Amino acid sequence: MSSNPNNSVKGRVRSIRHRLAGQRVRLKIGMHFGQSILMTIVMMVVWLAAREYAADITVPFMERSRQITVASSFMDVRSFSDLHNLMKTLKYTVVLPGAEKAVLDELVFAPFLVICSFTTGLFMLELLGDLLSYHREQHRIKKMLAPLDEIAARAEEITNFELSEEKYHLIEEKITSLEPGEEAKLSFGDEDLLGIERAMNNLLTRIRESNRQQARFVNDASHELRTPIAVIEGYANMLARWGREDEKVLDESITAIQNESEHMKHLVEQLLFLARGDAGRTVLKMERVDLCEMMQSVYEESLMIDENHIYKYSCPTDPVFVEADEGMLKQAVRILADNAAKYTKEKDEIMFAVGIASDTQVYIQVQDTGIGMKEVDIQHMFERFYRSDEARSFGGTGLGLSIAKWIVDKHAGHFEITSREELGTRIRIMLNRVA
Ligand code: ATP
Ligand code: MG
Repeated sequence: MSSNPNNSVKGRVRSIRHRLAGQRVRLKIGMHFGQSILMTIVMMVVWLAAREYAADITVPFMERSRQITVASSFMDVRSFSDLHNLMKTLKYTVVLPGAEKAVLDELVFAPFLVICSFTTGLFMLELLGDLLSYHREQHRIKKMLAPLDEIAARAEEITNFELSEEKYHLIEEKITSLEPGEEAKLSFGDEDLLGIERAMNNLLTRIRESNRQQARFVNDASHELRTPIAVIEGYANMLARWGREDEKVLDESITAIQNESEHMKHLVEQLLFLARGDAGRTVLKMERVDLCEMMQSVYEESLMIDENHIYKYSCPTDPVFVEADEGMLKQAVRILADNAAKYTKEKDEIMFAVGIASDTQVYIQVQDTGIGMKEVDIQHMFERFYRSDEARSFGGTGLGLSIAKWIVDKHAGHFEITSREELGTRIRIMLNRVA
C-alpha cells in the first residue's frame, strides 16, 4: 500500500500534469520572445528601407580614419560592396564622432530605441498573459489526461486492494454453496468484492448460454436424424411385408432408402464437422492462396456437375492472394454455390467473382438470381438448423452456412449479404489480403 501521495500513481499523474503545463507556458514565452525580436528586426528594416539617406562617414578604424561612402538607401544597394558599407554604417553608429553620428543617431539609433521600447512593452504584456495562463493550461491538460487519471485511480484501487483471509473464505463458501440451477447468481454482500462478483456472474451466464446452445444443438441434431431413420424403418417394414411379391414396392423402397441414407450420411458428416470444430480438433493448414485460381476451380466444378444453370466467372487482372487453408475455403465457397444452385430456377444465372474491396481487404462472392431472402432470414441464416419457410420445400438440413461461417471465422474474415425476395442473393466472403 502506498502512503506517500507523491509516490502514488495519482500523484505521479498530477506531477506529469504540472510539468506539461509548465512546459507549455515556457514554450509560449519562448515563442513570444522570438516573435518580439523578429518584429524588432522587421520594423528596423522597414524603417531603414523607407528612409532615404546619404552619408559619407569617417570611421575610426585601428587608430586610423577611414572614409566610407554608403549607399543612399537600401533601395540603392546595387552590389555586395554597397551592402557591406551600409552594414558598416550600422555597426559603427555608436563610435562615430561629430556630425556623422548625429545623422546616424537620427537614422538608426533613435528609431531603434522607439521600436525596441514598443516591442519590449508588447513582450511584457504577452509574458504576463503567458504566466497567467498557467492555470488554464493545467485545466486543459487535466481534461486531456482524464482517461489517464481514471486508469491511475483504478490502478490505485487495485494496488490498495488487499484480500483478507476472511474474504477468501467468504468467496470459497459462496462458490461451494452455489446451486447449479439455471438462474442462480453469486452474491458476496461485500463492496470490495463487487468486481469479482460481477466477473464471476458474467462467466456463469456465458457458461449457461453455451450449455443451452449445446443442448439445443444435440436436440435439433437428434430430431433431424430421427426423420430419415423413421423413413428408412418404414420402408424396411414395407419391404419385409410386401417387397418380396410386389416389384413396385420393392423399387420404391430401395430408392427411398437410398435417398434417405444419402441424406443421413450428409447430415452426419456436417454434424461431425461442427462437433470437431467446437472441440477445437480441426487444424487449419494456412498457406498463400491465389483466390482467382481457387475460385476458377470451384466454377469449373459447378459447370461440370450442374448443367441446369448458367454459370459466369470474373476475376481482376491483378492476382489476389490471401493466407488460407485452401481446402477449407473451397468448402465454404462450395456451400455458397450449392445454395445458389438450390434456390435458383433452372436456366437462371449464377455468378462467381473475386474482387478487391480496399488495400487490405479482398472478397470472393457468389451471386444468384434465385428466391432471395427476407430481412429476418438474413438475420438467422447462419444459425445451426435454421431454414427459411420458403427454403423448406427444397432439400437440406440448415447446417451448410453454419459450417461456412465457422470456416470464415477461422480465417478472420466475415460475410456481407445482400438479398431481395424474388430477385436474388449476393454473398461475399471478405478476407484479409496478403502481398
Ligand atoms: P444445407 O445444410 O443442406 O446446406 P440449407 O441450404 O437449407 O441446408 P444453409 O446452407 O445453412 O442450409 O442455409 C440456411 C438458410 O439460408 C437456407 O435454408 C435458406 O433459407 C437461406 N439461404 C441460404 N442461401 C440462400 C440463397 N442463395 N438464396 C436464398 N436463400 C438462401
Ligand atoms: Mg445450404
